[in-house]
Amino acid sequence: MTDVLIDRIGTLVTNDPSLGPGPLGVIEDAALILGDGVVRWAGPRRATPEAAAAERVDAGGRAVIPGFVDSHAHLVFAGDRAAEFAARMAGRPYGAGGIRTTVAATRAASSQQLSRTAGRLVAEALRSGTTTIECKSGYGLTVDDERRSLEAAREHTREVTFLGAHVVAPEYADRPDDYVDLVCTTMLDACAPHARWVDVFCERGAFDGDQARAVLRAGAARGLVPRIHAGQLGPGPGVQIAVELDAASADHLTHLTAADVEALAAGRTVATLLPAVEFSTRSPYPDARRLLDAGVTVALAADCNPGSSYTTSIPFCIALAVREMQMTPDEALWAATMGGARALRRGDVGHLAPGARADAVLLDAPSHVHLSYRPGVPLVAAVWRGGVAAGEVA
Ligand SMILES: [Zn+2]
Repeated sequence: MTDVLIDRIGTLVTNDPSLGPGPLGVIEDAALILGDGVVRWAGPRRATPEAAAAERVDAGGRAVIPGFVDSHAHLVFAGDRAAEFAARMAGRPYGAGGIRTTVAATRAASSQQLSRTAGRLVAEALRSGTTTIECKSGYGLTVDDERRSLEAAREHTREVTFLGAHVVAPEYADRPDDYVDLVCTTMLDACAPHARWVDVFCERGAFDGDQARAVLRAGAARGLVPRIHAGQLGPGPGVQIAVELDAASADHLTHLTAADVEALAAGRTVATLLPAVEFSTRSPYPDARRLLDAGVTVALAADCNPGSSYTTSIPFCIALAVREMQMTPDEALWAATMGGARALRRGDVGHLAPGARADAVLLDAPSHVHLSYRPGVPLVAAVWRGGVAAGEVA
């Protein structure tokens, strides 16, 4: 593979403080060399090494940032819930129950259909700059439908999460503990070989603290690393459980106690905020400032799913984070790149230091600030994933 020299970069965000000022490690008037799937060199233009047989891309003063790392997505499903969205916008509140609509459609779909939908959404995310994406099961809720959901996810990403404990399967509505037993035994035995992570929706209407702990422990016993949905609809025990079990990430966090914030600051569980959910359910946003000011590591993710956030656009989430959650444009970009990488415990993505995977995004803008300053505008001019161009340079 020929090396790629991206030249005349106005602002290069490396996310490596040793390469430039601030947490974003910004280099002005920069160049970037990609080769063999990794970043070979990043630095000021005047110091560009002679690259043998490099294909030159002229950034023309525009910005280059690391590819987005979206650490929370539900891409394996069938059907959509546009009617439910319209009803909600007309005043009906959001609850966990709507998930069952998608469960019925997912069970009825073929594995090929499920894989095709997931692939279409991964491609859509890539076009808006997402080069790493996590994908959960959770709309099958039987041993077989959860397993084939994970297999469909696996065709498109290595960050696959078992979420058999998304809601209680409809067949178990009046005996939820029996469903938790199924998840913790037969379902995990069938599913664990296809996943890297185990997740649970710890929420009123889904799973309580004891059930969530049982599911995460059973997953961990089979080699999966915990992550959790916590504090979306109300406060609960999810954050404490996450920190107690050293979960990689606790996600949503719209409702937090002071003890939750303290626990997150003291542990290494990343706080993943999903503002497109609050946008799409017309709910109050999480208090990102409270977490950042307490020193908690914050990630931003899109939570693409057909019920509460049907978007793959991280630029949209960045705009929401800046406008609605009082994050600075720098904090929001870091959270959507390095923050996501931390939430997936990945050292090879989310930054552009030499040796990192060659995941870079060329923006049609002089700086990353334009991602929130120019909301809704398609600013992604080109994307490289593993050094391979996924879009056309404008
Ligand atoms: Zn979710």
